[in-house]
Amino acid sequence: MKHKHILWDFDGTLAYRDGMWTGTLIEILRTAEPDISVTRDQLRPHLRKGFPWHKPQVPHTHIRDAAQWWQALLPAVEQTLVVFGLSAARAAELAAQVPAQFCNPENWQLFEDTISTLTALSETGWSHSILSNHVPELPDIVNALGISNFFTHIHTSAVMGFEKPHENAFRIALQPIPDNSVVWMVGDNPIADIRGAQQLGIPAVLVRQTDPTVQHQCPSLIELVEIIESDPVDSNNSGIPR
Ligand SMILES: [Mg+2]
Repeated sequence: MKHKHILWDFDGTLAYRDGMWTGTLIEILRTAEPDISVTRDQLRPHLRKGFPWHKPQVPHTHIRDAAQWWQALLPAVEQTLVVFGLSAARAAELAAQVPAQFCNPENWQLFEDTISTLTALSETGWSHSILSNHVPELPDIVNALGISNFFTHIHTSAVMGFEKPHENAFRIALQPIPDNSVVWMVGDNPIADIRGAQQLGIPAVLVRQTDPTVQHQCPSLIELVEIIESDPVDSNNSGIPR
């Protein structure tokens, strides 16, 4: 029997963090600077650049560890805090709280259908890995959510040096999967997840979102088992360039 493998996006697919980056800053400001009133909507335009996934065509393989990764990111956060009235020194202090605040497992939750779907697919012979545009600490977050055991590998762009839809992100995730495997990608982003996978010939399912240009899509993970199991695709991975 052929090896069957699913590459999973993480954020918005398996789990979510309330408020994401803007929420992280609001949480920090609420405690540290309660007199500053700023909303997520006000912060959002300032955080649309400076994150590595905003430029997925640019590899960042020169970044070697978590400290360097955050160092590259935090100036964008500091500049945002200065815009809202903090001194440069205070902005740097609060930006330094971002990694722990963002990654705090208490702020992350699984979707209701995550464990049941991973369990059902595992029982029918699928193995799983995560392929995510994410922070270096993603494996810790996955572990804290109690789902690490489902995955053979957890690939985060922060460590790979490539952001989806860059094809090298997918190539790295395919490497440990046996040749001639059946491989699917599952994610909530039509470009990073779906088009990224398709450019390497990997079929993909868009979940929790809709997009008229995407062939396979479903509103939750509940319908996913049927889509993946009923597709006549055989060894779709045989011709994927590694
Ligand atoms: Mg996502």
